[in-house]
Amino acid sequence: MTSTQKSHSAIVIGGGSTGAAVAHDLALRGFEVTLVERGEIASGTTGRNHCLLHSGGRYCVNDREAGIECIEENMILRRIMPDCMELNGGLFAAFDDADMDYLPLLIEGCQACEIPYKKLTGEEARRLEPYLSPQAKAALWVPDGVFEPMRMCMAFLATAKANGAKVYPFTQVEELLMEGTQVTGVRVWNRIANRRYNLHAQIVISAGGPWAEEIAAMAGIDVPVIVAPGVMVSMTGRYSQHVINRCNKADDGDIIVPQRETSIIGTSSWTVDDPDYIDIPEDHVALMLDRGSQMIPALKQASSRGVFTVARPLIGREGEDEREVSRTFECFDHDEDGIGGFVTISGGKTTTARAMAEKTVDIACRKIGLDVPCRTHETVLLSYRAFYTI
Ligand SMILES: Cc1cc2nc3c(=O)[nH]c(=O)nc-3n(C[C@H](O)[C@H](O)[C@H](O)COP(=O)(O)OP(=O)(O)OC[C@H]3O[C@@H](n4cnc5c(N)ncnc54)[C@H](O)[C@@H]3O)c2cc1C
Repeated sequence: MTSTQKSHSAIVIGGGSTGAAVAHDLALRGFEVTLVERGEIASGTTGRNHCLLHSGGRYCVNDREAGIECIEENMILRRIMPDCMELNGGLFAAFDDADMDYLPLLIEGCQACEIPYKKLTGEEARRLEPYLSPQAKAALWVPDGVFEPMRMCMAFLATAKANGAKVYPFTQVEELLMEGTQVTGVRVWNRIANRRYNLHAQIVISAGGPWAEEIAAMAGIDVPVIVAPGVMVSMTGRYSQHVINRCNKADDGDIIVPQRETSIIGTSSWTVDDPDYIDIPEDHVALMLDRGSQMIPALKQASSRGVFTVARPLIGREGEDEREVSRTFECFDHDEDGIGGFVTISGGKTTTARAMAEKTVDIACRKIGLDVPCRTHETVLLSYRAFYTI
């Protein structure tokens, strides 16, 4: 070993928000890191999500664990990656009696999860957001925000690269290399050079999002992932400055996210078997437009820029109601399945990617007897712009 070589090594599969955050955390704790991504960085779920930096308001009533994770990470991310965020705040707006009945539950949830909030009258809310429906009776301000998912990944990875990590997009894992019951590396296909080769490391971490089940199956392991897509409709024009949420239990078409010069209405939820082939149900598109324009009526006249879908990786078994499954995350140390050197991280949100990485790398460190604390919560990332220059 030369003086520049590191004594601990890890391979990360997947260049979405989770894999990028894991690579950063590993590199910061002194690992020699190689990240492989079968497509472009953020080409999976991360690059096509709703871009909402969750305050936790959406989860604090029915899924408090996820609500607390979101507000804690929201506060950290705005400190460590300021150039990937628009900190515009969010409104949970109540338009009918059912929404008004939900408002006290939402306030109680915010208090329980320690989410800052401010109650507004309908008139105050419309003063902030003139396009809001005149039906708005009240609203709750929360610290929602908007992020740029690809830039987030690039900021994590630029910093990881500055700490020695190697990042290989368009490099697909086709096989997990095994010695007995130990995963020792991966066989990859470099899709640009059309070349196949092996990579070895002490630990292999799968951050394959909705593909996690497929990757774990390469080692004969069954990871419980529900693949749950959602439809989003992007409208031309920015009809609010805040993120507009409907003040009710999370449901279809109840969020409008202002993203650059668009307004993205989302989302729905159903389950599929294969995250690579998802048909967009026409009725979901109509539902987004209908529900979105109940909150901002001007969206009825706006033109649609595009419709897109992508799949959530939820932790759960087939047959469970995906709407009721927690949005929290889980890290699987496959020692428990009798397979060494292999860890899967799945579930969660882009908002909670850093916390997901912390838990995963804690496990990786424990597996090889390394005692180095996580510092990602206090490490300000390089600009995403540095990704291509390091
Ligand atoms: C409709 C919808 C809206 C959402 N909105 C939000 C939101 O507003 N805010 C928020 O915080 N979260 C949101 N989420 C959740 C969030 O997008 C996901 O939790 C997050 O993106 C998952 O990131 P990931 O890195 O785990 O997975 P991914 O981003 O899917 O990354 C996994 C990567 O692994 C790669 N991969 C797969 N197989 C292989 C292989 N064999 N070899 C190499 N690479 C491989 C894939 O190409 C992919 O890039 C939303 C999800 C959905 C479905």
